[in-house]
Amino acid sequence: MKTLLIDMDSVICDLMTEWHRRYNRDYDDNLSIQDLKCWDSENYVKKECGNKIYDYLDEPELFIKLDPLPNAIEVLRRLHENYEILIVTSSRTYAYTEKEKWIEKHLPFIGKRNLIFTHRKEMVRGDILFDDAPHNLIAFKKTGRTAIAMDYPYNQDVKVDRVSSWLEFEGWLEAYEKGDQ
Ligand SMILES: [Mg+2]
Repeated sequence: MKTLLIDMDSVICDLMTEWHRRYNRDYDDNLSIQDLKCWDSENYVKKECGNKIYDYLDEPELFIKLDPLPNAIEVLRRLHENYEILIVTSSRTYAYTEKEKWIEKHLPFIGKRNLIFTHRKEMVRGDILFDDAPHNLIAFKKTGRTAIAMDYPYNQDVKVDRVSSWLEFEGWLEAYEKGDQ
């Protein structure tokens, strides 16, 4: 049975919408994920915010409230029948416990025992990494394994296969198994 390594933020759960909502509220701006042409969010916020954009990621009650991305839960439920699934995510401060709770709430069939916190996803044993962060995709691909991107403006330069939804990912995986990818 193959092992899928699945990222959490902006792959399973919608971090950006709530993150940007809080920033836009506080700085009277109109930032959205479509504006982020590279990974470093501080380049796209108002000067008076700058690196403080990352302080929102330390706010309690942020991660626990995130919504799943469309079809993420149902597709993971189906994939769980045929794959070993590990959730791999990096984290700051409060997010550790909140992410555990989130997985227990939305993905109890995977459960927190299959949640791995790491900043070095390429060091985790697994066959395929589904992620959105350029540095993770590149590092994983360098190990000779398959990385696939959730498509966003900020990861366009990464040379891996990409999908823009969970249903597309499921289709990609089917084709991959048949040797079409
Ligand atoms: Mg992510």
